[in-house]
Amino acid sequence: MKKIMSGNEALAYGAYLAGIKVGAGYPGTPSTEVLENYSRYPGAYAEWSPNEKVAMDVGIGAALGGKRAMVTMKHVGLNVAADSLFTVSYTGTNGALIIINSDDPSMHSSQNEQDNRHYARASKVVMLEPADSEEAKRFVKVAVEISETFDTPVILRTTTRLSHSRCIVALEDEPADIVVEPAAYERNASKYVMVPMNARQRRLVVEERLKKLAEYAETTPINFIEPGGGDIGVIAAGVSYQYAKEVFPEATFLKLGMVYPLPKQLIRDLAGRVKQVVVVEELDPFIEEHVRLLGIPVKGREVFPGIAEFSQGRVRKHAAAAGLVPKVADPPAVQTPQLPVRPPMLCPGCAHRPVFYALQRLRVAVMGDIGCYTLGAAPPLGSMHSCICMGASIGNVHGVDRAKVKDRTAAVIGDSTFFHSGIAPLINLISNGGNSTVIVVDNRITAMTGHQPHPGTGWTLMGKEVPNVSIDALARAVGFKKVDVINPYDFKLVLDTIRDHTSSDEPSLIVSQYPCVLNIREKKPAPTVDLDACNECGTCLRIGCSPMTKVDGGVAIDPALCIGCGFCASVCPQSAIKVPS
Ligand code: SF4
Ligand code: SF4
Repeated sequence: MKKIMSGNEALAYGAYLAGIKVGAGYPGTPSTEVLENYSRYPGAYAEWSPNEKVAMDVGIGAALGGKRAMVTMKHVGLNVAADSLFTVSYTGTNGALIIINSDDPSMHSSQNEQDNRHYARASKVVMLEPADSEEAKRFVKVAVEISETFDTPVILRTTTRLSHSRCIVALEDEPADIVVEPAAYERNASKYVMVPMNARQRRLVVEERLKKLAEYAETTPINFIEPGGGDIGVIAAGVSYQYAKEVFPEATFLKLGMVYPLPKQLIRDLAGRVKQVVVVEELDPFIEEHVRLLGIPVKGREVFPGIAEFSQGRVRKHAAAAGLVPKVADPPAVQTPQLPVRPPMLCPGCAHRPVFYALQRLRVAVMGDIGCYTLGAAPPLGSMHSCICMGASIGNVHGVDRAKVKDRTAAVIGDSTFFHSGIAPLINLISNGGNSTVIVVDNRITAMTGHQPHPGTGWTLMGKEVPNVSIDALARAVGFKKVDVINPYDFKLVLDTIRDHTSSDEPSLIVSQYPCVLNIREKKPAPTVDLDACNECGTCLRIGCSPMTKVDGGVAIDPALCIGCGFCASVCPQSAIKVPS
């Protein structure tokens, strides 16, 4: 039996087959669906953690407790979890620990384009990289075996193209339901307590382990030479292998499933068979530099660009320009109709809109954060003036305020992002005598990645009801005295509250609270516009709500798109927009 699966679905299926019992992660494109799919398998326990470091620590704990564990996150998430990763590399894991980490070449949905293969080398752990969904399924099992054989965490790296593209996966027999009696926790302080004296000993173990892994890399069946004719030997891994196979059909290949440590002898073997070695890899010249260190001449970055993801056409174009393959005529240009450019904007009726419009009206300098509300930076709202990374906004606004700028300032952070990494900078603001304003735009869900729960929602990924953490109570508990919870659709209240807080000399926090309209699917009748009353001032168009268009003599609202939130009516100075009663 076979089934078509995305890379993410196949990773989840592989985790089930490999007997992984605990999964933890933080949602982030392109990795999100791994944990969601895994949670549906019998015997699986899965949870969304408030951030990637917490997820990593949960995974480490499960592995130390003897279970096979999986942690999932996108590439930037590993920056957050790196602190734990670098030390679990020293302690080892007891049960298997697999970290599924998804890079995003071309930044389809990310704030930077980082090549996380460097994390494997820096943290001295194994990295595997599947090239299609079938390998994604199989490599989880390989990763579990490596983890338990060598007592090491294993990173399974994917990229967006692999995570989201679909191909055929062979279905396997259901894994036997192994009932394991709870075992005693293995007490081994010299291995698991990384005080300097123990860590120095483990450092030697890690080095020995790397040597053994380098030997394993030479013999593992996931690294292999595919004999071919021609003069060219291509080294490739992951989805780049698929592109390279199409562009160099005659070449001899070294297909790498394990990208760290790399197999020196296999690389030398390939070089001995061909006249010219070519590395096809996206982003950084990670494999290429390794080949150069072996003293083997190689073509890589001088041929293929180091920015943005590849495609078969892109690899072919650059290979042909370098004379590695014959030039082919450009394919006929696809005729596409000229469609108007549609800038990204907040959803119709989004509860964040009144907050950003108020911030614009009050000319507040806004330090923003990562989430769908980052669209508040886009015109016509244009109300976010920095966005660095998850949870940065509160520390950023404190720094800006310490620099004593003239403007009113505020941090704007979403609820899920607040739980991810907003709490520590909130405490920092208080404990260092700051007086900034923090606005939590709380839509009661992790909206951007597809409505995952977080500590404020009151339910878990497995559907269990749990206590929910109150953001305003938490702020009061850490020392904020000026705290308000507001309904964002009460625009006068929004304006007055933000004006009051940003003029205040004390630290303050506003929770603008209303559920994401896409999640609760709330829809009321659309307002109508009285064109006799409308004086075409254009104020309502400046809120940037897509159902509204300019028409002769005024404005029209498309009832198919409008969810009837009524915000546009509250900004019309002529009261020309009528909300049905
Ligand atoms: S009522 Fe107005 S602001 Fe609300 S969704 Fe409809 S057009 Fe947009
Ligand atoms: S805000 Fe009111 S008066 Fe101004 S264009 Fe819109 S509907 Fe007309």
